Amino acid sequence: MLSKKMEEAINAQINAEFWSAYLYLSMSCDFFLKGLKGMANWFSIQFREEQDHARMLIDYVLARGGKVTLAPVSAVPSAWDTPLAAFEAALKHEKAVTARIDALCELAAAEKDFATTNRLIWFVDEQVEEEENAQGIIDALKMVDGDKVGVFMLDKELSGRVYAAPGV
Ligand code: MG
Repeated sequence: MLSKKMEEAINAQINAEFWSAYLYLSMSCDFFLKGLKGMANWFSIQFREEQDHARMLIDYVLARGGKVTLAPVSAVPSAWDTPLAAFEAALKHEKAVTARIDALCELAAAEKDFATTNRLIWFVDEQVEEEENAQGIIDALKMVDGDKVGVFMLDKELSGRVYAAPGV
């Protein structure tokens, strides 16, 4: 059985995952509109992954006999000045998500809730990957430094990203 406090904290994280999904869907639409279809594809897959994260936490709360409460999802920005600005915003957001996951881990440890700790470990690992992926694209964008051919080539590369359901 989840404690009330843990149930509330995970519900807040479910909402945060949906907010992430919303943010990345918005970024995907912005890139699509600007003709950067590969980057749109990359963020569209991020969008799906964030929904998976929310679903995984929902399933976990239900498995523990907890109540899922779906709060409203706050508005997200709808445009970014440059690809670099969007990916930097994505990385900043992922770092904030990492801090949230770490705080959940701290709560689980304080409550000696080993099942929740174990469930969260997947998310700890996922955050390492999320930050690494965003940083990699930022590095590439900085390397091409706004060069149109470089951005075109990177966009082509990101068009090859394929969605894979999370290995839970
Ligand atoms: Mg997530």
